[in-house]
Parts: sequence; structure tokens; C-alpha cells
Amino acid sequence: MTARATKRDRLPRYYKDALAKKQKEFWDYEKLIVKWGKLDDYEVTQKIGRGKYSEVFTGIHCPTNKKCVIKILKPVKKKKIKREIKILQNVSEGPNVVKLLDVLRDPLTKTPCLVFEHINNTDWKTLYPKLALSDIKFYLYQVLKALDYSHSQGIMHRDVKPHNVMIDHEKREVRLIDWGLAEFYHPLTEYNVRVASRHYKGPELLVDDTLYDYALDMWSLGCMLAGITFRKEPFFAGADNVDQLYKIAKVLGTDLLEEYLDAYDLELELEVEQRLGKLPRKQWSSFKTKENAERCTPEALELIDKMLRYDPAARILPKEAMSHAYFEEVRKQK
Ligand code: AMP
Repeated sequence: MTARATKRDRLPRYYKDALAKKQKEFWDYEKLIVKWGKLDDYEVTQKIGRGKYSEVFTGIHCPTNKKCVIKILKPVKKKKIKREIKILQNVSEGPNVVKLLDVLRDPLTKTPCLVFEHINNTDWKTLYPKLALSDIKFYLYQVLKALDYSHSQGIMHRDVKPHNVMIDHEKREVRLIDWGLAEFYHPLTEYNVRVASRHYKGPELLVDDTLYDYALDMWSLGCMLAGITFRKEPFFAGADNVDQLYKIAKVLGTDLLEEYLDAYDLELELEVEQRLGKLPRKQWSSFKTKENAERCTPEALELIDKMLRYDPAARILPKEAMSHAYFEEVRKQK
């Protein structure tokens, strides 16, 4: 018989009691009393984005004439809005996290709006293909800093993807945005697996492993690193959630998936198991082509391998990744 992991084995390697060290007010977001700013101080200028939960505009803060971003939330549960605001208030001062400048509410419609600093972002589809390897390392290191900080504050982002990493290439500035799916990490709590965008969903979400933690963000970032390195974005292009797991298994193989499921007593639905069948593990070097060879250094492949592990507990965490050889030139620059 194989030894079964108990719930105790399911704690992250660090920051597991980040919230135990905080006042209840820090994480008890339902009790948040929002201090609404002055709506009349702002003017909306142009629509720049639209998501499931919001519409995003550029705007002007009239008293200072400063450009900003105004995120008008669609009608969702009050609890979700309070969670996003509380989390933003907690992490906004951290490194490379988008700054929350104000929170507004339209008195007639009661629609809440979040006001952020504006980042002069270059769309990733334009930017990623032309980045030098040293830029890729620099920008990824900045995202790791943001993630390490947020995890140290007991918060998982749960929606890391290129759309949510704003890069001002001229200023060499990075901001992790959209904390709308972020959640407080309380040890041994079961979380909703319907988070993150399909192509960046960790295996834990796809196999209904609800006891997940900060390591989820490292899978998503690993998908970004693989996508940029191999010039194949998204790297795992699933057509639906089952196909997403299939695309992952086509690379990592089914043996390691089984090992992960076994270790935590998880089971696949029969339909999913049949869909996957038996798949061998691929070498990371097999994704190397003439076009991406410059980015496929041994260090890059090693880091991708350490981020893209089925078992969240086997994944490298932000602090550890920041000390990896891949980032040596970034650390030297400091
Ligand atoms: P979100 O719903 O927060 O993911 O935002 C939707 C889109 O609006 C993003 O993908 C960006 O293109 C844009 N956006 C959001 N926040 C900012 C910001 N602070 N600066 C510049 N663009 C932003």
C-alpha cells in the first residue's frame, strides 16, 4: 500500500501562517466599510478593456490633471467587491503591484468603480516577440517580486496571465493587475477551483483539488515563462477544461499525473481518464526550434521544469525562483 498524504502535508512551504500573524481586520473583508471618494473629481476618457466582471476606461483625475484607469465593476456580489478592494488595499503598496488610488460609487446606480494608476502598457502580443532574453528575465523577476510579496501577505492572485501583467517597456516598469479573483490563504481551507483563465489554470484546478495554495500562481507564471521562452503563447492551448488537462498531460505525461493524484487521494472522472489515456513525458528541449533557440538556455528549461509540476508542493515558489541561476544577470544588475 502506498502512504496517503494527510491534510497536514498540504501546507505551502512558506507563508502558511501569514494571516495568523495579522489582525482579523486585515483579512475579514466582509466587515470592510468602504470610504468612497469623490466621483466628480474624475472624468472618463476612453474605453480600454472589458472583462467578465468589469469595463475598464482611461480617465483623468481633474484636480491634478493626472491620467488614471477607472475600472467600473459590473453587478456582482457585494462580498466579491469588498474582497477585491480589501486585497488591493493590502497589497497595493507592494513591489510591482498596481496602485489603487481611489474607490468611487455612482450615487444613482450604486455601481462601484476602482481607480488605479495608469500604466503605458504595450500589448503582450506585440511586446513578447521582440523582447531580448535579458528583458524577459528582468520582467519575470519583477512579477516574482509582486507574487512573493502578495504571498507573504497571505494572498493568492489566482489569475496570473499575460493580460494581467502590464509592462511599460520605455520605463521598464511592471505591474500585476486585476486582483478580482485574488483570495486570502487560510491553511487547509477548500477553495473554489473555478478561478484563473483556462490556459493558465493549474492541474489542481482541473482535477478538482480544492486544497490548493499560493503555488497555483507559480503554475500560471510557469505557463507564461514557457510561452515566452518557446515563442508559443499560450503554451497549453486547451479548448475546454478537459482538453486543458490533456494538453498538459501531452507534455508532462500521465505517469506523473497519476503520482500526484495518488499522493493526495484524488480521482479523475472516468470520462477524463479515458480522454487522457496513457501519455509519455516530453523533454523540455524538444520544444526548442530555430526561432526560439536563443531563449532556450539550460537555465530557462530548468526553471520551466521547476514551475510546471503537477504537484503544487513540488513547484518552486517565488522566493526560490528569484534565486535560480536563470535570474543571475538580474540579481547582478541590482
Ligand atoms: P482588468 O479587468 O483589470 O484585467 O483590465 C482589463 C484591461 O484593461 C487590461 O487587460 C489592460 O489592457 C487594461 N488595464 C487595466 N488596468 C490598467 C492599468 N492600471 N494601466 C493600463 N491599462 C490597464
